Amino acid sequence: SEQNFDVVIIGSGGAGFSAAITAKNAGANVVIIEKMPTVGGNSLITGGQMNVPGNWVQKKMGIEDSIDLFVKDTLKGGDYLGDPEMVQILAEQALPAAEWLRDYIKVDFYKDQLFQFGGHSVKRALIPRNHTGAEWISKFMAKTDELQIPIHTRTTATALIKDQSGRVIGVEAEKNGQQITYYAKRGVIMATGGFGANVAMRTKYVPELDNRYGTTNARGIMGDGIVMAEKLNAKTHNMESIQTYPICHIDTGVISLIADSRFFGAIVVNKEGHRFVEELERRDVISRAILAQTNQQAYVLWGGEIEDIAGVVGVHKDEFGELNRKGMMFKADSIEELAGKFGIDEKALMAQVGRVNQFAKAGDDKEFNHRGGLKTIMKPPFYMLVAKPSVHHTMGGLMTDTHTRVLDTQGKVIAGLFAAGEVTGMTHGSNRLGGNAITDITVFGRIAGKEAAAK
Ligand code: ADP
Repeated sequence: SEQNFDVVIIGSGGAGFSAAITAKNAGANVVIIEKMPTVGGNSLITGGQMNVPGNWVQKKMGIEDSIDLFVKDTLKGGDYLGDPEMVQILAEQALPAAEWLRDYIKVDFYKDQLFQFGGHSVKRALIPRNHTGAEWISKFMAKTDELQIPIHTRTTATALIKDQSGRVIGVEAEKNGQQITYYAKRGVIMATGGFGANVAMRTKYVPELDNRYGTTNARGIMGDGIVMAEKLNAKTHNMESIQTYPICHIDTGVISLIADSRFFGAIVVNKEGHRFVEELERRDVISRAILAQTNQQAYVLWGGEIEDIAGVVGVHKDEFGELNRKGMMFKADSIEELAGKFGIDEKALMAQVGRVNQFAKAGDDKEFNHRGGLKTIMKPPFYMLVAKPSVHHTMGGLMTDTHTRVLDTQGKVIAGLFAAGEVTGMTHGSNRLGGNAITDITVFGRIAGKEAAAK
């Protein structure tokens, strides 16, 4: 069968939704196609924090920040391999994008709390309600309902269609074994996410990342958009930059949100009871450090002081229940008891915690110079979970210009084809900083929607 729209958006993550809603509001007739039975992709399963320099919570908390500082942190965090022009747009458009999410999409951000992820100079990440991407995906759903934007799930895009001039005019898709042709009068937006769940594709670029590693990704994240665009001679960039997330469940590979206590001062130790890395170091650094420890595992430890501020066990009750049942996380009245549960060297751990408490009180971490400042771990109950790294984010992908138009290997625009989100390889360089993906997909999703809708 055949369907006709102005703009066809492939993928229903944050980038796809941002693009679809923006295109619709610009007067285009749009459709989202999504291969999975449910929407949201990786965007649904993230913590959902979003870096926004100069945001309203920073103002309220008296935190000084600037577009320049965010640009600097982001470029440095990516070893200066991100595109400076795109990073500048990311930084400048972050606040308008966040205000749009707050005021128009009705995403509920905490009003007096911010996250500081590794590599950021200040606390600048807004936190959605319940610390999960589900907050904004559910609000995006409500908005697409209101705007009557159709979402065709279980519909897999298989190829892009061009006309004789080379312009992209539509998408071939498959639903339940049936072929559907979607024609797009104005443009196709690729928002299919990265390729973190595709072992063959990721080992093609980084042989080490084979199936010994789990992945934090949703099942649909197989690099389809990159493959489809490459058939039209699209240029890819930075494909070997693949990020692992350091703290994940050791069995499923799923990212541990409860261990976000780390951003509030929880420490990371090994089986020998020692800290071995600064807990707010870059993800790649922490991941590599964990893989160098006994059993390639680490243990995250915190107590009542941190839980009172972070509230992670309260917020992520399901995760606690699951990990606890599996023997992968415990709550106890003493640290000795936790050491016993995991077979960690108790004496060494108690000595380590003693040092942490001293450093916390003195405001000076003499071992690893913790950039957020350590907190004491003295007040029960205490919490500990075991973790290891998973493949998390693929920084590389399609190249676009500043209008999100996909470029070919000659650096020329492929007419009619736009891309936004993890499918692109523009902003993060060698290493995406925490909280930057949400900013990236919202900012460039909005630009793609506007550009594709323009006649
Ligand atoms: P981003 O963060 O860039 O928005 P996500 O991972 O959140 O990316 O979302 C990408 C979405 O695209 C996922 O829901 C995924 O299932 C979907 N997707 C991937 N490949 C295809 C395809 N070939 N056809 C339709 N949808 C796809």
